Amino acid sequence: MSASFNAIVAEEVDGKTVAQFKSMDLVDLPDEPVLVDVAYSTINYKDGLAVSGAAPICRRLPLICGIDLAGTVVESSDSAYRPGDQVLVNGYGLSEVHNGGYSQKQRIRPEWIVRIPDGMSAYETMALGTAGYTSMLCVQGLQDLGVKPEDGPVLVTGAAGGVGTVAVSLLAGLGYEVHASTGRVDEQGEFLRGLGAAALVPRQELARDCKPLEQELWAGVVDTVGDKVLATAIAQTKYEGVVTACGLAGGAGLASSVMPFILRGVTLRGIDSVQASQQRRQRAWDALAATMNREHLASLSKTVAMSEVPALAAKILAGEVAGRLVVDVN
Ligand code: NDP
Repeated sequence: MSASFNAIVAEEVDGKTVAQFKSMDLVDLPDEPVLVDVAYSTINYKDGLAVSGAAPICRRLPLICGIDLAGTVVESSDSAYRPGDQVLVNGYGLSEVHNGGYSQKQRIRPEWIVRIPDGMSAYETMALGTAGYTSMLCVQGLQDLGVKPEDGPVLVTGAAGGVGTVAVSLLAGLGYEVHASTGRVDEQGEFLRGLGAAALVPRQELARDCKPLEQELWAGVVDTVGDKVLATAIAQTKYEGVVTACGLAGGAGLASSVMPFILRGVTLRGIDSVQASQQRRQRAWDALAATMNREHLASLSKTVAMSEVPALAAKILAGEVAGRLVVDVN
């Protein structure tokens, strides 16, 4: 095993958080029980914020960035894991307070680990990444609250992004009529139809001031955008429909009214992937392994080198990345 390896490390430089490439040694890693040879990481929206320093995601410096990782266990002082085990980690504070996945090696805690489900590769888990796993949490949020395909159309906002593309594919595969809202209808519309979108909704139709109640359109919503788009989606949700809110790509605000909740019995279901329980995670990953269309996954993901991460971090924040990026850290 080579002693030194590459990582992207956030450090404080002149009072600012700056992420840069560093040569690391095993002794630089934290003293956690499971040593992993990392194969792949990803670039999620939150990674874009962390690497660019646009938001204080890394709350402890210096810190290795990358909120996801997948790879092979090399050593473990915890009896639950053995060399050769295929594992992944999403969230749990990686790149926030713990060292993350933009590193060829990492030491992690057993309680953060999800075993890569049978029939799924390390590459595929990172093609999904936190974004794809969050999509499944949203889909299960709708299903658990009783939204069925026969109840009517389901809206996905920020549909051309990482969470959105996977949500479109998953919901269409489960038989829902998916309406995909995107700011890039011309550029990404055909691609979204190829993932199973039955209709496209231009972002401007939702990113506006809405009335407290509008025409009832959606049995369910997967919202990755927040702000006016989320408020309009809530106002358009059908009687006893369910809105899952997981993102803020369009802003953290929410100027809604109580009307959809008290007159239509609408449910607003928050989705958090970072601190979700092991049970909830394993359930989501097992469902992804069972239901994710592998051709769709290949078509919505591409591999990038670790050297490209800083430039792509800026692009994902500018809304210029479509689908999912898999970072080959080696
Ligand atoms: P991406 O950048 O891949 O996708 C976000 C999409 O949102 C873009 O592709 C774009 O879609 C749309 N968008 C971007 N900017 C704006 C804007 N100003 N106004 C309206 N729409 C916009 O990010 P991810 O899919 O990785 O993440 C989506 C959101 O979900 C992020 O806010 C992220 O932080 C959050 N998230 C939350 C998690 C949780 O645990 N709750 C976990 C994972 C992600 P289009 O081009 O189709 O319009």
